[in-house]
Amino acid sequence: MIIIKLWLLFLIIGGITIDMKCGLEIHVQLKTDSKLFCDCSTNYKEAPANTNICPVCLNQPGTKPFPTNEKALKNALTIALMLNCKIDKDITYFMRKHYDYPDLPSGYQRTSVPIGYEGDLNGIKIREIHMEEDPGQFKPDFGIVDFNRSGIPLVEIVTEPDMHSPEEAREFLKELIRVLNYSECARGEGTMRADVNISLEGGNRAEIKNINSIKGAYKSLKFEMIRQKNLIKRGVEVKQETRAFLESQMITVAMRTKEDADDYRFIPDPDLPPIKVQKKQLEEVSETIPEAPHNKVKRFIEEYDIDEESAKTLTSELKLANAYEIVVKSIDPKFAAMWMRDELKRVLTYNKLDFKESEISAENIIELLNLLNDKKITTKVGQRIIEKMPKNKNSPKEIAEELGLIGVVEKDEVLDTAKKTISENEAAVSDYKKGKETSLNFLVGQVMKLTRGKADPGETVKILKELIDN
Ligand SMILES: [Zn+2]
Repeated sequence: MIIIKLWLLFLIIGGITIDMKCGLEIHVQLKTDSKLFCDCSTNYKEAPANTNICPVCLNQPGTKPFPTNEKALKNALTIALMLNCKIDKDITYFMRKHYDYPDLPSGYQRTSVPIGYEGDLNGIKIREIHMEEDPGQFKPDFGIVDFNRSGIPLVEIVTEPDMHSPEEAREFLKELIRVLNYSECARGEGTMRADVNISLEGGNRAEIKNINSIKGAYKSLKFEMIRQKNLIKRGVEVKQETRAFLESQMITVAMRTKEDADDYRFIPDPDLPPIKVQKKQLEEVSETIPEAPHNKVKRFIEEYDIDEESAKTLTSELKLANAYEIVVKSIDPKFAAMWMRDELKRVLTYNKLDFKESEISAENIIELLNLLNDKKITTKVGQRIIEKMPKNKNSPKEIAEELGLIGVVEKDEVLDTAKKTISENEAAVSDYKKGKETSLNFLVGQVMKLTRGKADPGETVKILKELIDN
């Protein structure tokens, strides 16, 4: 028995001492109306397959790319600045990265040299940021390639291997997606594709491809960490290789031994002239970049005197943060923070909606909080109204009227209802007399039910106690 315990201890300690390093390469589509090198629409999801296409984005022989989409460059610069990157190389140009796959008839993908480098996000260093064109979508199940996606601008964000656990990588990705959402320059997690590299002390670096979500990144790292640890423990070499993540099974499998940059035969694209990033253009972008979410958290704490947890919840979404700043112009910031953090987030989570997808406006939140402040409704009624708000365009007052909830009941009515409750629930009353406190909660609940939540809970407790004790 002791031997088994010692062995377990060795395993646990052994687990802690193996250091893990993880770096990420994240691709996200940039928000533009047209593609990177042609005028085709970027609306690829709703359009029938192969309808948003032209000879350029089909990579047909003899076609030449249009000049680089300026909006895409501006968006990439904004993201680079929000991630504190240096942008001092004023000439940017595109390289051809060669590889063969059915989604890429030209045999090369255009990818820019870094437009920003040496940035950071919450202590994780950003090595570089560059632009790329998306390839088409090969659909082996249907035997087709859909080129609607081909040529959509992407930004690729490459971190240093600064993360030391799957949890840390997950937190970083969440914060990065938040920054991208705030930037309004990218299309968010839905378009994310990430490659993850991971190495353990004493082993080689493995790269995992095919990751499409934050959860996928976390799960694949977790799996890979355990796989590599077991190999190292058994004295087997961890190979340097590229592995694929199979999301359906939450495992990684070997794809190929790692290629070097040489394998891609990078050459500057002779069809595209270099782009000069003008100083004026950079100044314009700097002046209009939105406040990054981590900075907003700090400001909310100082300006509105709310706790960090509330500030983080309220800034989890740009539209929610904006609504809060409108609400606090006429409502006490702490009171508003409490309702928007607890009740509003609760009903949004329940309805699986983001604030921006819901019917709730800042004006409606103000109206609801005013009804509560003026004691026209109780907390309980407030909660019932807010539950209806995500999917109801009507104002809180109108919702209260629809549900017959407006008004707080008078003391006499509470007294009558309490008497009725006591006479109908003898068992609970006698339990309470014997010292069972929960029985009182039950009686309060009955009164609330009969008054449809319009009785004041504090008042109800007082009245019930008086009636029972006398
Ligand atoms: Zn096109």
